[in-house]
Amino acid sequence: MQKSILIIYTGGTIGMITRPDKNSLMPFDFEEIRKHFPEIEKYGHRLSAVTIHPVVDSSNIKPGSWIKIAELIRDEYEQYDGFIILHGTDTMSFSSSALSFMLDDLGKPVIFTGSQLPVSTLRTDARENLIAAIEIASAEKEGSPLVPEVCIYFEFKLFRGNRTTKHNTEDFNAFLSPNYPPLAESGVRMRYHPEHILKKDNSSKLKIHTRLDNNIAILKIFPGISGNVLDATLGTVGLKAVIMETFGAGNAPTDPWFYEKIRAANEAGIVFLNITQCTQGSVEMGRYETSEHLIKAGVISGYDSTPEAAVTKLMFLLGQELPPAEIKLLLNKPIKGEITVS
Ligand code: ASP
Repeated sequence: MQKSILIIYTGGTIGMITRPDKNSLMPFDFEEIRKHFPEIEKYGHRLSAVTIHPVVDSSNIKPGSWIKIAELIRDEYEQYDGFIILHGTDTMSFSSSALSFMLDDLGKPVIFTGSQLPVSTLRTDARENLIAAIEIASAEKEGSPLVPEVCIYFEFKLFRGNRTTKHNTEDFNAFLSPNYPPLAESGVRMRYHPEHILKKDNSSKLKIHTRLDNNIAILKIFPGISGNVLDATLGTVGLKAVIMETFGAGNAPTDPWFYEKIRAANEAGIVFLNITQCTQGSVEMGRYETSEHLIKAGVISGYDSTPEAAVTKLMFLLGQELPPAEIKLLLNKPIKGEITVS
C-alpha cells in the first residue's frame, strides 16, 4: 500500500560537499541527496522533503532546532504516515532523545538517520541508511505502524533514539544502544522485535512539548577533582540541575568537602542526577560505600541512562517548571523507555 513519508533534512555529513576553497566539509541541500539517489522515488511511496534552514553540521544543533522539528511534525502529522529526519551523527543521539520527550503520544515512526560518508562518495553508507529508514517509516501491521517511536536507524540496526550514544567516528556503525536491544535488524529481511517496541494506544493524540530549559551542567568526576571545579560548576548563574558522571555503579569520592558541597547545593534546590561514566550498565547507589553519601546528599539515580537522554530529559522536565521534588520523582521513572528501573 502506498504510504506518505516526510523527509526532514537538517544537515550533517549525509548531504555535505567539499568546500572548493578548503579541504573541509560543509552542509549542502536536500537536492544533493535526491540527485544521488533518484531510486528512492521508485519505492512507490509518496515521498516529500523539507529542509530546515539553516542546514547545519549537527555540532550546531540547539534546543531551538528540536523545537522547529517538533512543530513541523505536529503541523504535518495528519498528512504523513511516517517521518525521517536526516541529521548529522555527532549530536543525533541528543536530538532523538530530545524529540522522544517532546513528542507525546506519538503514534507514527520518527526515524533519524544520516551517514558517515557524504552521498557523493562511492562507498557512502547513506544509501542503505536512507532506503532502510524509508522501509521502516512505512512499515505497518494490520493498519498500525510497526514502530511508533523516535528511533535511530544506522548500519543495519534500528535503535530506540533515547537509548543511543555515538561511539565511533571511524566505522560505519557509529551508534550503540548499550543498555537496550535493537528494535529491528536489517538482513535479507527487516527483522522487527515487537517485544522491545513501545506500545501505543490509539486513544490519545500527538501533543508536543516545546518548553526546554538548558540551565543544567555535566560534572564529570575524576580522581583528584578539586573543590574549585565543583564551586565553578555549582556557581553557574541560573543553574537548576547537575548530571554527575560518576565511576562504575555510581560511585564518587567520599571526602567530607565533596559531600558537603553537594548536600548544600541540593538543599538550595539544585537537582543532582547520577549517571555512570561506563558505557554499559547501571548506577546502583548504595551498592558500595562510595555512593552512600550521595544518597544522603539527595542525589537521584539515573540508572542506565545515556548522558544524551539525561541531558534532554532534564531540559524537558525543567521546562515544565515543576518543583525539584516532582522532577526527582519523574527522573526515577522511565517516561519514554529511556531507563530500566530495577
Ligand atoms: N559533523 C557531522 C555532523 O554531525 C558528522 C556527521 O554527520 O556524521 O553533522
